[in-house]
Parts: sequence; C-alpha cells; structure tokens
Amino acid sequence: MNLKELTIKQAHELLEKREITFLELTQGFLSEIKKKDKDIHAFLSLSEDEALEAAKKVDDRIAKGEQIEMLAGIPAAVKDNILIRGGKTTAASKILENYIAPYDATVIKKLKEEETVFIGKTNLDEFAMGSSTENSGFGPTKNPVDLERVPGGSSGGSAAAVKAGFCVYALGSDTGGSIRQPASFCGVVGFKPTYGAVSRHGLIAMASSLDQIGPITKTVEDAAIIFEAIRGKDELDSTSVHRDWGDFTKPLDIEELKIGVPREYFTHGLDPEIEKNIKSVISKLEKEGAKIVEISLPHSDWALATYYIIMPAEVSANLTRFDGIKYGYSEISRPTGDHPKGEKLLDIYLKTRQEGFGAEVRRRIMLGTYILSAGYYDAYYKRAQKVRRLIKKDFDFAFENIDVILTPTTPSTAFKFGEKTSDPLSMYLADIYTVSVNLAGVPAISLPSGEVGGLPVGLQLIGKNFDDIKLLQIAKTVETIIKEKNHT
Ligand code: GLN
Repeated sequence: MNLKELTIKQAHELLEKREITFLELTQGFLSEIKKKDKDIHAFLSLSEDEALEAAKKVDDRIAKGEQIEMLAGIPAAVKDNILIRGGKTTAASKILENYIAPYDATVIKKLKEEETVFIGKTNLDEFAMGSSTENSGFGPTKNPVDLERVPGGSSGGSAAAVKAGFCVYALGSDTGGSIRQPASFCGVVGFKPTYGAVSRHGLIAMASSLDQIGPITKTVEDAAIIFEAIRGKDELDSTSVHRDWGDFTKPLDIEELKIGVPREYFTHGLDPEIEKNIKSVISKLEKEGAKIVEISLPHSDWALATYYIIMPAEVSANLTRFDGIKYGYSEISRPTGDHPKGEKLLDIYLKTRQEGFGAEVRRRIMLGTYILSAGYYDAYYKRAQKVRRLIKKDFDFAFENIDVILTPTTPSTAFKFGEKTSDPLSMYLADIYTVSVNLAGVPAISLPSGEVGGLPVGLQLIGKNFDDIKLLQIAKTVETIIKEKNHT
C-alpha cells in the first residue's frame, strides 16, 4: 500500500473490507514518521499511545460487525495552534513551550465524534506568522519534494506531513494564505472555507477577523469530506453560522461554468513558467466547454498593504494575553530588591515577551500597537478597513457574472531556506494572491497543477461567500482535467 497516495475514501474502503486493520494503518504511518521525519521535521509532537489506542477501539467495533463512519480510524495530523485536550499546544512559540491544552477545539471535538485518529501536532511559523516555517521557535520544516526548500507556511508542517505520507489528511489554519500557500509549495490540496463556516473555538487566535481552519488533503474529495465534518454553527464562536450547504456529490455541468480570470493576477512578479502552466489549464477548461471571462479585481494592488495593517492590529490585541502570568513561559527570575512598587510586574511582562516571542512576532506586535495608537488609528486602521470593504466589493461585483475565480496560488514555486529571511517584505510578497480572499472572507482552494522545474505549482479557485460546496464541486472538475492534462 502506498501511504503517500492513500486517500480517506480508499483507506475507508480497505478498512471496511478488512484488507487492513486500523492498528496496522496507524502503525504504518507512525513508522514512516520515525524513519523520515528526522529529515523533514513536520511534527512538533506525536501522540503515539493515544493514536494506537483509538485505532484499536475502531478495530474492535469492526470486529463486532458495527458500521463505521467515513473518518473512523483515519490517521490525521493537526497544526500545533489547534487545541487537543491533554496534549501540548505550542503554536511553535517558546512562550507556549510547555502549555497543555485544557480542552478540545470544536473542530477536534467534531472529528473525535467521527473517531478519527490524531497522530501528532505539526510545525508552523510561530503563532502562524510567516510563509516558510522558518519563523518556528523549534526549527523549520523541510519540503518533502526538495529538502533544500521551504514547505511554505504557516501550515508548512501539515502540508509536508500530507505530502510525505505521514498521515491521510491534516488540519491547518489560514489567515492570509497559510493553508493554500504551503499546499501549493508541497503539491497537495489546501482549502480555506468561507469565514464563519468553521468554528474557530480552540484555535490560537492570530487575527480573529481573518482566521479560518481548513483541511490539507491529497484530493478535493477528501477536502470536502473534512469540510462536511468540521463546519457548522458553534455556540462558542459567535462568528460561526448555520447554513444549508448543498450536496458535494451532485454532478456539475462544465458547459454551464463561468470562470473569471482576474487580469491583476497575471502581471509583474509572476513566474512566467507558472503563468504558462495556469494558462494551459485555462485553455483546457475552455476546450471542455467552460466559459472563460476576463475580469478585474481593481483593488488587488492594495490587498497586501491592507492585510499588513489589519492583521498586525489584531495580532497585537490577541497576543496581549501572553504576559508571563497567565500562560506558559515566564521571566520571573529577575532579582528582587530596589524596584519601586509596580515596576517588577512590568519587568515580568517585558522580559517574558522579549525572551518568549521570536523576531517576526515582536515586529508584528510593535507594528500593530503603533497602528492602533491614538492619532494613528484613523490614519491607518480605519483607512485599511475602508479599503478592505472595497476589496470585498470587488469580489461581490465579479461574482454577479461568474461562478468561480481562477488564479495562481503563489507567484513562485517553493524557495530555498534563507532566501527571504533577511527581507520581510519579500517574504510578505509570497502571499500576494492569497490575502485578498481572507480580507473578503470568501472561500478558496489550492490544487496541485503539475510542476515547474521539478517543483509543484498551485492553482487557486476562489468561490462566493458560503458557496463552499459549489467551489469544491468545481475544484473536483478542475482537478480531473489537470490530471488528464498531465497524462497526455
Ligand atoms: N504568510 C501570511 C502571514 O505571515 C499568512 C499567515 C497565515 O495565513 N496564518 O501573515
């Protein structure tokens, strides 16, 4: 059995037919991890005993002849900013190095009800801030396709784990591209649902108005299976909503499909080979009968600047709770003595945050604090919110005439370690095609679209708000066409 290719559906069928046991499957993945994760470093921690125990439980049910759910016994990896009760949850930050989650995130609770098996927590850029996992407090993850290159970020560990064959699927989080960009760099599928489709309860917050949890998988169908399992209204997240989502298995007529191609996404900065790749998929879709429409998203040029105002503002507010008193790491070792009253407490805050946070996190907290300070709030934050509104309107307007938007996921393929670390702005540009989606709240998915120079290329499809199922249906059609194209 090829663990690298194994999908949820295939695993479920093998297990139902009793061609393999859950225990064997889980052991298979764990032994792959032990053999190969020394080089890749996709995982920050493993939960071997719990995973084997959970797998045995499902085996017992099968032995009794009971019907099992689609996700029962399927081994999964989880980004280490999502809480699993009783296990370490670090967000790849030294400040949370020994933090034990006191409860399950809602997505975890839902997946546990389906008896999925969690085998470990994956690496990320500290607090999900970055595009390469180089900002992890515990060392970077390597791209399984080429160990000299980054896997993307911030959900780099999750994407690498799926690609390397360490699990059947993984969960990630996406604030500005963190599911789609690593999926693109590693050659797997990454889906960011509509804002509000999936509960954020138990996700360590980065920027609350942008964060969403979503799946990283090998196929679109698997992404749909996970989405169906984790979505829905949750009393513990007031931004989550109830919807009538529709049926993923309903067939889609490609001849009725109107695909928008935004001209702003095919200009300077895009690797010409990626452009060629994406355009050849577009012409294949056209040949199959889809209608291709050139569209404009006129405020795209301001998306990155807007994101880098709104996101750090929310980061600085969300991260105030890590002060050395409430959670994790604490710098309380300063000798007592001649400090006036009150100063010592401030010292604890300052030193804890200086020692506990990495450089990128500190940079964003400082930026955000500045943006929100009196006198600058109107000039920066308020203006950025207005531009955000315009970006959202661009999408609303475009979707009056089309079903889906097609773009590259990233302007380049996976870059080498260190290539962008000295220049944060060049790192931020890796998200140029993904951040608008979070600002507008719309759903988007990245699909593997062949290779350029031996490295995976990602194709992004963007859907209308809460049209997640239709987006996934379209993505499945595009996936089939890309696969056929690569074989001819
Ligand atoms: N790379 C982007 C950033 O650094 C996106 C991060 C994310 O989506 N969590 O902000």
